[in-house]
Amino acid sequence: MEYRCVQCGFRIKTLFVQYSPGNIRLMKCVNCKAVADEYIECELMGLLWKSLVGFLVLDAYRSLLVKRPEEEWGTSMSISSFFWIYRKMLMDVFLGNYMFLCSFLFAIRSLLKTSAQFSRFRDLLLAILISSYFKILLTAMMVWEFPPAVIYIIDLFVLSSNTVALKVMTKSTMNRCIGACFIAHAIKFCITQAFA
Ligand SMILES: [Zn+2]
Repeated sequence: MEYRCVQCGFRIKTLFVQYSPGNIRLMKCVNCKAVADEYIECELMGLLWKSLVGFLVLDAYRSLLVKRPEEEWGTSMSISSFFWIYRKMLMDVFLGNYMFLCSFLFAIRSLLKTSAQFSRFRDLLLAILISSYFKILLTAMMVWEFPPAVIYIIDLFVLSSNTVALKVMTKSTMNRCIGACFIAHAIKFCITQAFA
């Protein structure tokens, strides 16, 4: 593949160098001395936003699945119980994930001693979001009937895949990665239960 500078069109060998996972430096064009392609950073932010939206949608769906055995779905459901479920789902998704994020950042700072750079946090967050896509298995529950326990088994899959992603990104010990992910998931679980 051939790259060119976005400013002057001069041919360039590589757009960035990677020092460690998530730690990149953008290359400068030898012709015009400007950063050859500053949009690489924007692409990462775009990817982050897209995966965040996908993550929240799947999480909202999970929240509805958890509520389903408690409330009978169908035409008999009253308007008030519909709004109750809707309100509960928003609380789960936004408050739950806000607390998840805060405790995750806190846990990786204190357990993994991650540097406080924004780009580092952004890359770790992206890894967590993408590794959470095991939640897509929940869509199978639209088609087939499963016992509600399956939701929690999928949660465990998500937890373990988050841990592996964190381990790969930070090269920290397995125990610390499990600890950081477990704290964040446990706090989210407690918050969503407390406001049930
Ligand atoms: Zn140039």
